[in-house]
Amino acid sequence: MTAERFIRDDGTQPAVSASPGRSPEIEQGKGLIDTGARRVRVDMHTHSEASPDSRTKVADQAQAIRAAGLDVVCATDHNTILGALRLREIADGFRVIVGEEISSRDGEIIGLFLESAVPRDLSGEETIARIHDQGGLVVVPHPFSINRRYHMRRASLDRLRTKIDALEVFNAREAIFLNNRAAAAYAKEHGILGTAGSDAHRASEIGRAWVEMPDFAGRADFLAALREGVAHGRLSGTAVHVFTRYDRLRKWLGRKSSSATR
Ligand SMILES: [Zn+2]
Repeated sequence: MTAERFIRDDGTQPAVSASPGRSPEIEQGKGLIDTGARRVRVDMHTHSEASPDSRTKVADQAQAIRAAGLDVVCATDHNTILGALRLREIADGFRVIVGEEISSRDGEIIGLFLESAVPRDLSGEETIARIHDQGGLVVVPHPFSINRRYHMRRASLDRLRTKIDALEVFNAREAIFLNNRAAAAYAKEHGILGTAGSDAHRASEIGRAWVEMPDFAGRADFLAALREGVAHGRLSGTAVHVFTRYDRLRKWLGRKSSSATR
């Protein structure tokens, strides 16, 4: 979606759309229905247990994706593509874009359409180059988040913005909606495409934000379709972050105790 469209649809409401699957354009009869083009729902940011801070089994992730009525999901675990590859293997009734949320020295950067993992702790420039070298797309997630420690800082974003393909302008896990508004305003100001995603770390969060866009065949026509997209979503609320920290703790404790008993 363009950021401009996002801001207009968004207004001042915490939810971008209250009617999943029906974009404001379609409701207003602006002609999209007449094209006959199939539109798809894409949650552009999700995690599974391949991420250290998620306990969602890949099979449960798949079930939740179907239950949410998503057509496509971007699987973006932290610093690995193994969960995404597994999800692509078992996907039934939806498509998977293999991605990775990479911890760069300039903050988190998402690569999409990846075939091999990009290592963590590289500079922002090097991380972006490694994504583009394998034909991937670069999305910077939650750039103005106040509730995340590892988001990209403003100075890095200003330095890297001409090299990125899109900016996440709606993340369902933002504690404060204004952080999404700031991202959308930044994308609009600099003419950067916007994305939306749940950033689900638990199966129940999958599909809380998505882009509704024309169907696409793959990497080559993805950005053109995204440009015609509309963001939908609602914030997951702060309780989710409490659960994430608890999950991370429990996972860590579980690992420790199981290794101690062996
Ligand atoms: Zn994430």
